[in-house]
Amino acid sequence: MSTVKKDSKIILVGSGVFGLSTALHLASNEYTNITVFDRLDSETQRFTLLKGADTASADINKVFRAQYAEKKHYQDLAFQALEIWQKWNRDIHLLPEEESKKFTSLQLLDMCGTLKIDYIFGWEEKASKENYIKEGLEALRYDLDDPAELKRAKAAGYGPKLEVALQLKNSRIPQLVGASDSSSGILYASRCLQYASCLCRSMGVKFILGGCKGTFKEYICDSDIKGIITEHGKKHFSDLAVINSGPWSTKLVPELSGINEAAADNVLICKIPDSRRDLKVKYSSKNFPMLAWKSGHSREHERLGGLFLFPCMEPEGYMKIVIRQTKYTNPEVLEDGRFPSLKRQIALRLSTT
Ligand SMILES: Cc1cc2nc3c(=O)[nH]c(=O)nc-3n(C[C@H](O)[C@H](O)[C@H](O)COP(=O)(O)OP(=O)(O)OC[C@H]3O[C@@H](n4cnc5c(N)ncnc54)[C@H](O)[C@@H]3O)c2cc1C
Repeated sequence: MSTVKKDSKIILVGSGVFGLSTALHLASNEYTNITVFDRLDSETQRFTLLKGADTASADINKVFRAQYAEKKHYQDLAFQALEIWQKWNRDIHLLPEEESKKFTSLQLLDMCGTLKIDYIFGWEEKASKENYIKEGLEALRYDLDDPAELKRAKAAGYGPKLEVALQLKNSRIPQLVGASDSSSGILYASRCLQYASCLCRSMGVKFILGGCKGTFKEYICDSDIKGIITEHGKKHFSDLAVINSGPWSTKLVPELSGINEAAADNVLICKIPDSRRDLKVKYSSKNFPMLAWKSGHSREHERLGGLFLFPCMEPEGYMKIVIRQTKYTNPEVLEDGRFPSLKRQIALRLSTT
C-alpha cells in the first residue's frame, strides 16, 4: 500500500455508521479526497429501515451504554463518544430551522437511562459496577434493593422510570433485583446517520450512492489494490480503499471469515396510534426507561432472556422490542470454499393492525 497523504484518493465502501464515521474522521483530519460508495441510495432512503435501508445502522434507535462488564476500554471509548454525541445534540439546535429540518431537528442521543432487571445479577452487571466504583462513577448507577440508592434515584428524577420494576417486585417477582444506569440511553440511529452524512458533505466528502454505480463488484489489482470496479463496470482508482460494508464485508474481504460474521436478532417495531396519547406519554423516554430484562451474555440465554424494550420514539410513536436470545446466521459458500455467515436481504413485513 502506498503511503497515504492528505490529498490521496481514498475510497470507502459502505455508508453505515462505520463508513460515515471513517469519512468524518478522515475529513476532520484534513484528508481532502474521500469518496463513499454504497449499494443503497442511503441518503434518499434517509438511512431509514422503513424506507428500505436494510442495514444494521439504519435502525430507528440503538442502545448507547458505557457499562461493558470487564471491558474497561469499551467504557472509556463510550465516554469519549458521549462528549461528541452531546456536542452534536447542542449543534443541531444551533442550526437555522430550515437547515436542521433537512435531516432532523430533534436530539440524536437521549440519555433516558436503562433499567436492568433480573432474578439475579449476572457477573457482567457485577463487573460493570466494580469498574464504575474504581473510576469514581458509582453515582451514575442506582441499585434497586438499596433504599438510600432509591432515594437518590428519585431525587435525580428517575422515580417514574423505576415504577415498572418496583411494581413487579411488590407484586409478582419479590426476588427481583435491578439497577438503573443513568449513563446510558438511546441513539436515534437513522437521524444520526442523516446528520453525519450532512457533516461529511459539508467537509467535501463525495458520495456515489445506489444501484450499479454505487455497488462494489471487484478490486482493481496488480501487486496491490489500486481501486475498485463497481457493478456497472466503471473503474475508480484510489490510493486507499477501505471496506466498511458491515455484515457484507466478509464477501468483499474473505480473510474476515471467522472474524466478521452476520447474525440476526428478532426485532419487533410497533407504532402507538396517534389517538393513544395516554400510551405515548406513559412510554415516553421522559417517563419510561430503556428496559433490559436478563441482559448480559451470561443471562440472555435464560427463558425470555436478552429482552430490551425501548421507550416510545417521538414524534413517530414507534416502540421497539429486541430479543437477543436466538441468533440467526446465513452461511454462504465463497469461491475459496469458506462458508461465513453473510448478510441476507430482508423482506419487511408491515402490518397496520
Ligand atoms: C438488530 C440489531 C440491533 C443492534 N443494536 C445495537 C445497539 O443497540 N447498540 C449498538 O451499539 N449496536 C447495535 N447493533 C450493532 C450495530 O448496529 C452495528 O455494529 C453497526 O451498525 C454496523 O455498522 P456498519 O457500518 O459496519 O454496517 P452497516 O450498517 O450494515 O453498513 C454497511 C453498508 O455497506 C453497504 N454495502 C454492502 N455491500 C456493499 C457493496 N458491495 N457495495 C457498496 N456498498 C455495500 C450496505 O448497503 C450498508 O449501507 C445492532 C445490530 C443489529 C443487527
